[in-house]
Amino acid sequence: MSDSYDVVVIGSGPAGYVCAIKCAQLGLNTAVVESWADPKGKPVFGGTCLNVGCIPSKALLDSSHKFTEARDHFSVHGIDVGAPAIDVAGMMKRKDKIVTQLTGGVSSLLQHNGVTVAQGNGKLLSGRNVEVTAADGQKAVLSAANVVLASGSEPVTIPPAPTDDAVIVDSTGALTFDEVPRRLGVIGAGVIGLELGSVWGRLGSEVVLFEALDTFLPMMDAQVSKEAAKVFKKQGLDIRLNALVTGTSLKKGAVTVTFTEKGEEKSAEFDRLIVAVGRRPRTKDLFSSDSGVTMDERGFVFVNDYCATEAPGVWAIGDIVRGPMLAHKGSEEGVMVAERIHGKLVQLNYECVPSIIYTHPEIAAVGKTEQELKAEGIDYKAGSFPFAAIGRALASGETDGFVKIIADAKTDRILGAHAIGPSAADLVQQMVITMEFGGSAEDVQLMVFGHPTMSEAVHEAALAVDGMAIHMPNRKRR
Ligand code: FAD
Ligand code: NAD
Repeated sequence: MSDSYDVVVIGSGPAGYVCAIKCAQLGLNTAVVESWADPKGKPVFGGTCLNVGCIPSKALLDSSHKFTEARDHFSVHGIDVGAPAIDVAGMMKRKDKIVTQLTGGVSSLLQHNGVTVAQGNGKLLSGRNVEVTAADGQKAVLSAANVVLASGSEPVTIPPAPTDDAVIVDSTGALTFDEVPRRLGVIGAGVIGLELGSVWGRLGSEVVLFEALDTFLPMMDAQVSKEAAKVFKKQGLDIRLNALVTGTSLKKGAVTVTFTEKGEEKSAEFDRLIVAVGRRPRTKDLFSSDSGVTMDERGFVFVNDYCATEAPGVWAIGDIVRGPMLAHKGSEEGVMVAERIHGKLVQLNYECVPSIIYTHPEIAAVGKTEQELKAEGIDYKAGSFPFAAIGRALASGETDGFVKIIADAKTDRILGAHAIGPSAADLVQQMVITMEFGGSAEDVQLMVFGHPTMSEAVHEAALAVDGMAIHMPNRKRR
């Protein structure tokens, strides 16, 4: 292994490995440093996303959704399969196989693109030197013209609920339960709480979510959050707002949770408790104090709009920098940085990063919410269209939810799109593309949408922006 590179990337999650591959594609001599190793000591690529995040959670979400389809919905179609049984070990085996396939795929891609792998813990020293400490303590130093920090994030822990990796677990533990807990508590009704709470709730757990805030999903458009609360309640998720967990005690494989709800002291017992109260950047010991890199009091590395840190030639991407902790956001930052290192002044449009909650129905959003526009004093017009009036949604029995489009009142430019319902993520992605091209509500109104498709809800929502939806009575014409 050489010790001098054009680029050294620390971390091979979706931010780091995409950046490394892009750098190599652009002809840069690139190395990636990764500390994660399997029980045999081999490097594990793909970071949180592929190993304990996006992919395994979606595998379980899809398996548990199919289970509910068989249990609750097949009979409507005239299909009688009797009462289905869940084989948790089988479900986990499938999930693990998908993870192995994808992480192995990243390994092959790194190799195929000629990226050098340095196994061990990376630390940035002064002068763009990266110290790599192997598992056996051996140290090597790689020097680079550019260093990209991409060390990702880890779950936040809270003193009243210390995890024991058995009864009280974080998101990683909740992806490996060996049986369906009868009673499941979840601290935090955010993205992870809702996704993993849904997995186990669908398979039969009684799920209670404790949310400290008094608002449900405050980052989503308020109309969407309201619909989501209604749908989740119907699905049996017991979401307690204004509920602060004050303590936990373990006894005979169960946990008693004490909490205050709207100021009142209460307690409840569970077989498993998931702590899902956010994630924090993994930046401890990532760089020396003389490296020139700085971070805020929460551990996020300071970067400019192009992910350059305060140290020349040092960049930071993904979960360790400002913005949403999303795999696709980190990957595109990786591409931007690779292009910039190569000399092309690419920039990322942070206004058009979609976010999705993979519950059923899905929840998806891009751009501004109505409440944000109100707070910013921007004059807007909004239109929404329910799936209950979409032929394809009716044919599929997927009638909960709606698509909502918000446009600037003066220019008609689309400022935001929000959806809860079938294929919400893919429908909102259509609006991401439209917004990237500076599209207006009228542009979408004049497009042809295939029939019968879920996408027709996007077309009708755009028409509804001007009170001109065809397939529902419009409230008022502007
Ligand atoms: P990470 O994926 O955390 O990767 C960082 C890598 O760096 C790791 O491999 C780590 O071992 C390595 N590393 C750290 N420090 C060092 C060091 N000093 N030396 C060497 N290597 C080091 N996001 C989505 O967009 N969609 C989803 O559906 C989604 N689902 C999720 C579900 C769950 C349960 C969780 C926990 C997260 C989910 N996320 C999702 C978030 C997503 O996983 C993260 O935003 C994403 O993985 C961040 O990418 P990253 O490359 O910045 O960091
Ligand atoms: P989150 O920020 O989405 O939700 C955490 C929730 O816990 C919040 O609602 C917060 O108010 C609440 N909370 C915080 N402290 C609490 C306490 N002491 N008691 C009760 N409630 C408390 O964080 P998360 O769900 O842990 O997810 C972490 C990150 O991972 C998110 O930033 C998210 O972007 C990412 N992620 C994304 C996806 C996806 O894209 N589908 C899926 C999972 C995770």
